[in-house]
Amino acid sequence: MIDVPTADQYTMTSRVLLLHSGGTIGMCPSPEGYRPLEGFGKLLQQTLDKGTAAVPDFDVVELDNLIDSSNLQPAHWSRIADELLERWDSFDGFVVLHGTDTMAYTASALSFMLHGTDKPVILTGSQIPLVEQRSDTIENLQAAMLLAADTSIREVCVCFGRRLLRGNRCSKLRTRSFDAFDSPNYPWLADIGIDIHVHRERLLTPPAPSFAVPEFDPAAVVVLQFYPGIQARMVEAILADSAVRGVVLRSYGVGNAPDANEALMKVLAHAVERGVVMVSTSQCITGGVTQGAYASGAMLDRIGVVPASDMTLEAAFTKLHVLLASGKDGVQIRQQFAKASAGECQ
Ligand code: ASP
Repeated sequence: MIDVPTADQYTMTSRVLLLHSGGTIGMCPSPEGYRPLEGFGKLLQQTLDKGTAAVPDFDVVELDNLIDSSNLQPAHWSRIADELLERWDSFDGFVVLHGTDTMAYTASALSFMLHGTDKPVILTGSQIPLVEQRSDTIENLQAAMLLAADTSIREVCVCFGRRLLRGNRCSKLRTRSFDAFDSPNYPWLADIGIDIHVHRERLLTPPAPSFAVPEFDPAAVVVLQFYPGIQARMVEAILADSAVRGVVLRSYGVGNAPDANEALMKVLAHAVERGVVMVSTSQCITGGVTQGAYASGAMLDRIGVVPASDMTLEAAFTKLHVLLASGKDGVQIRQQFAKASAGECQ
């Protein structure tokens, strides 16, 4: 079924902004390995201007200081959001070129900052740089641009490896495949084959836009993963930092904890009593947290840990960051985690 208008129709009507932030897509080889190529935006413009890839009308903006997204900081989320909002009224849709390593974090953060977006915001990148043989750049970019011109998509998405995914539902799951991303707890928003088939019934129906770009404290949220042998004193040392105001726990299975480790449970309970907000996500890729299905998980309920349903780590982490940076208190954050605000959980 062809249900995305053809490239020709898009080129006639829509204008898309390409915002380049870094990542493999725009890297070049160096003796130390791939690094960002300054001025890649111009090369991209020239490549697309040749007309071999039919795309909508576009402008390219390149951020100063392109990064390997492994170096991403929460401040980059605000920078990207600000750049988009500065040009919001001049374009029909937006494509953010981004490194794959932390793309799911940025997509999630944008989905919470651009709450109720009325335009498509599509993140993409590539596994092989544009300047190398067999690059997946044009395929990913062309699909992302066509979808960014589809104004029925009103959410933040990741377009990569022939699929369109909800941004706050996806994770990078493969290091060496073209289909690096997937969203195990939510079906794909579009299949990109010979035709592009958008599953419109899966798209978000957003509320009225309420955009907020807060100033992030990078130290505010930490991730703590349970593992066999985890030591209370190590966790205590992390939580002793007064800058830490939120914790994403990576619990076992359906939300279980090593509750026989009383010292550890006490450390977690003290932190919650001090006002640290703790949310729990599962270390499993599929399914979510049902805290209390086991006694070992019920302990987290008693401590006051907030279950984060079937959210990805990236979504829970960025949602907590955004809520804390927006000045929400523990009660408000608990309420916000009990429901989806941008389609991030059941
Ligand atoms: N390290 C790169 C980055 O995240 C990997 C990539 O883009 O695929 O920027």
